[in-house]
Parts: sequence; structure tokens; C-alpha cells
Amino acid sequence: MEQLQLLWQLQELEQKIFRREHELQNLATVIEYQRRKKEFALFQQELKAREEELNALKKELRRKELELQTISNSLKEMDKKLYSGEIRNVKELENLEKKVRAGKSKKSELEDEILFLMEELESETAEVSSVKALEEEKSGELQQLMLKARGELHKAQGELQQLTRQREELVRVIDSDLLKKYRELSSRMQGGRCISLVKGGFCGICNVSLPSSFRARLLAPGELVFCENCGSLLVSGD
Ligand SMILES: [Zn+2]
Repeated sequence: MEQLQLLWQLQELEQKIFRREHELQNLATVIEYQRRKKEFALFQQELKAREEELNALKKELRRKELELQTISNSLKEMDKKLYSGEIRNVKELENLEKKVRAGKSKKSELEDEILFLMEELESETAEVSSVKALEEEKSGELQQLMLKARGELHKAQGELQQLTRQREELVRVIDSDLLKKYRELSSRMQGGRCISLVKGGFCGICNVSLPSSFRARLLAPGELVFCENCGSLLVSGD
């Protein structure tokens, strides 16, 4: 194949590689996976906070149960003392009775609080366990998405590698002076196309109709012909 046509192929290949590299950075599944991963981390944080709350509730309940136990014990002691007949002093007896009343009232208060805490604990436990089930479900979904994203990433990377290898092969067979010229032109076009494939007498880049004299020049070996309109290097594509 003609050198200029190979050069045009190289340009098209490089354009493709450039697009693929951009696509690789923006793979939809990878972006989706990253978004969901962040979401999941927040979800787990919330779950953790709820579990900590649940533990605090459990501790609070345990503390109150111990307190109730202590009060019940001391009430028993006081009752025993009260009915044992060992206290004969009226004032002392009255004091003890007062203490018993206060203890009973505190005991009843604690029992109410414990009941309330137990109910709260029960509903919170149920909620946390349903959130945990949801966590497992979400984790499974995330895992699936990760595998999908990884698969697509590998596929895209594989394709890119293949294109890069094709580019290396092309570069190897293209004349180095011509390559240099191409690089110069390309950088002037800021990475855009600078090699134009002419078909039916039209410039492949700016679409201008080329004078018929150009066609003969295009076919002359070794001659570099440039489009007068867009400045690109013309390659015969017919
Ligand atoms: Zn042109």
C-alpha cells in the first residue's frame, strides 16, 4: 500500500485510540459502580450508627435492671427489718417506712422505664436486622456491578492494547520523514485530523471541491499535495 494511505490509516487509528482512551476514562458501568460504592459506604455508616445506638440502649436497659435489682434487694431488707419488730423507736420506724415508700416508688418508676426501654429495644432490633438484610442485598448488587465494571474495563483495555499494537506496526512501515511531517501537521491541528482522504474530488476534511489539476498531482508518487482551503495533506482515496 502507498505510504500516504498508510499515513492516513495511522491518523484514523490514532483518532480511534484517542476516542477509546477517553471512553475508557468514562465507562458508564465504572462510573455507576463508583457512585454506588460511595452510596453503600454512607449506608454502612448509617447502619453502624444505628447499631451503636442499639448497643447503647442495651447498656441502658442493663443498667436499669441492675438498679432495679439493687432497689428490690434493699426493699426486701427494709421489709424484713420493719416486720421483725427489732425497731422500737417510733421515729426510727417512721423513717424506715418513709424509706420503703420512696424505694417502692422508685422501683415502680424503674419498672416503667424498663418496660419502655424493652419495647424500644425490640422495635429497634427488628429495624436494624431488616437494615442489615438490606445491606447484604446491596452488597451483593455492588459485587455484581463491580464484576461487570471490571469486565468492561478489561475488555476496553484489551481493545486499546490491540489498537496500540496496530499503531506500532503501522509506524514501523511508514517512512520516518513522512511520519515527522505528519506529527508536525498534526500538532498544528492540535491533535485534529491533518491527513485528508480525497474521494470523488472532494477534500475529506473540509469537503471543498478540488481542482482537477490536483487529481493528477495526487497520483504522482512522492509528491505532497495540500488542500488550499484547510491545509491538510491530501491522499487519494479513490
Ligand atoms: Zn481541505
